[in-house]
Amino acid sequence: MVNQIYEKIRGEFEQKRREAQKAAQQRKKEIYAAIPALAEIDRKINLTATEYSIRIINGEDVKNEMEEELSRLSDQKDNCLKQNGLSREDFLPVYSCELCKDTGILDGEFCKCFKSRVIQENFKSSNIGNNLDYQSFEKFDLKFYPDQKEGRYPLTPYENMKRNYAVCRKFADKFDDAKKSLLLIGGTGLGKTYLSTCIAKQLLTEGKSVIYISAVDFFKRIEKSRFEQNDGEIKMFENCDLLIIDDLGTEAPSAYTIAVFSDILDKRWRCERKLIISSNNRLTEFEKLYGQRVFSRLAGSFECLLFYGKDIRVQKFMNGES
Ligand SMILES: [Zn+2]
Repeated sequence: MVNQIYEKIRGEFEQKRREAQKAAQQRKKEIYAAIPALAEIDRKINLTATEYSIRIINGEDVKNEMEEELSRLSDQKDNCLKQNGLSREDFLPVYSCELCKDTGILDGEFCKCFKSRVIQENFKSSNIGNNLDYQSFEKFDLKFYPDQKEGRYPLTPYENMKRNYAVCRKFADKFDDAKKSLLLIGGTGLGKTYLSTCIAKQLLTEGKSVIYISAVDFFKRIEKSRFEQNDGEIKMFENCDLLIIDDLGTEAPSAYTIAVFSDILDKRWRCERKLIISSNNRLTEFEKLYGQRVFSRLAGSFECLLFYGKDIRVQKFMNGES
């Protein structure tokens, strides 16, 4: 996926560059048509340079003479341009990035214009869309989580969420060093999606590739790739930097989709590529739903965060905040 994005953008840059050069050629033609004297001077400059070069190759000592003649013509050209309110810059291609001249490369590295285009494309292909505008770690509010103990939980919802928040933030901040994926378990409206989105947003901004997908869609796409005999999407699920599967347990998996899901988990784990999976189900229910192989992968390579408290969306609605 990452390579596909880079290839696509490289193609775009090449196209942009060609178009800028074509436009400059066209402009030159139009200027020549409007100012024939200028065209004539340029023709003389080219002719002079060619003729003298041949003479120099043939051993004639005319380098100084050539330089004088070219300098004279160059002054003539400048005068002519000036008289017509033009400058030499009017002949140059106008690139959208003057730093790299739309090559995407600057001093042997990707130019910042190229990087920001990659980020933009990653955002687009992440599936996250509109959630990104108003969700961020900075805006996360703990006030909706009561600081009184509930049932059998050792931490109050407030203390628990403070911890979940810290784990998620660290996961995003030290993404490359994180050893475990995240399994976010709990009811709806408790911040699982919110925190996953914050992580996705931060990583996308850093140029990482992220795919955000609901479990229902995820399993549908696996099924679809089987019928279309096209594993492009499966490869994306395997290779993106972070795969987020939302609401696992709400879909109806088949033996086939479970086997592919299990393969994706294994492949990502082998390459140390992380996932975030959120679910309303308890960890123990995963064994029943997806079998032993998936269960052991989830239990072994994921850090499990519990979410409990009262539905934030309902509380916000009651407070007239959304
Ligand atoms: Zn650039």
